[in-house]
Amino acid sequence: MRGYVQVYTGNGKGKTTAALGLAIRAAGAGLRVFIAQFIKMGDYSEIKALKRFSDLITVEQFGLGRFTNGKPRPEDIQAAQRGLERIKEVMSSGKYSLVILEEANVAAKYGMLAVQDLLGLIINKPDNLELVITGRYASARIIENADLVTEMCDIKHYYRKGVRARVGIEK
Ligand code: ATP
Ligand code: MG
Repeated sequence: MRGYVQVYTGNGKGKTTAALGLAIRAAGAGLRVFIAQFIKMGDYSEIKALKRFSDLITVEQFGLGRFTNGKPRPEDIQAAQRGLERIKEVMSSGKYSLVILEEANVAAKYGMLAVQDLLGLIINKPDNLELVITGRYASARIIENADLVTEMCDIKHYYRKGVRARVGIEK
């Protein structure tokens, strides 16, 4: 099956849940899925849930948690770079049908990943692999080179009323 490049971006809710939904659908079809999480670190509820599908879905984290003051530390950059190398391996292994780069747009926005390196992944993608890139701030060059781009539009979000991420709903 031919694989395409999908991007979920924008300020509205649903980017991560869209990617997770795809992972579940793919696993339901017996496809192997690799999820690389940038930025985030820790046991989000979805990671706990996906452990039940560990025969088909692999999750690895290449973030050290959200950095403060909008500036990644050297160790944040190193972790993202390790992720990049790992993804190259994973993508050329032939083992996975779906590879999800969760929050990779954000990592690129903050200079932890070079847009050029993300583009390299898109350009060198094996034909039969579906690649999904999520996160706010998708760069114009990523959008240009993707086959499907959805922007989650923030029409209304309770975040603005002060509702922070809730376990089981946002995390
Ligand atoms: P979900 O994981 O529910 O699908 P998402 O992946 O689209 O959402 P992210 O951009 O990854 O959302 O946002 C992560 C967290 O940032 C949200 O869970 C929320 O707590 C917070 N957030 C949501 N909207 C805003 C906003 N407009 N401004 C700042 N922070 C927000
Ligand atoms: Mg998200």
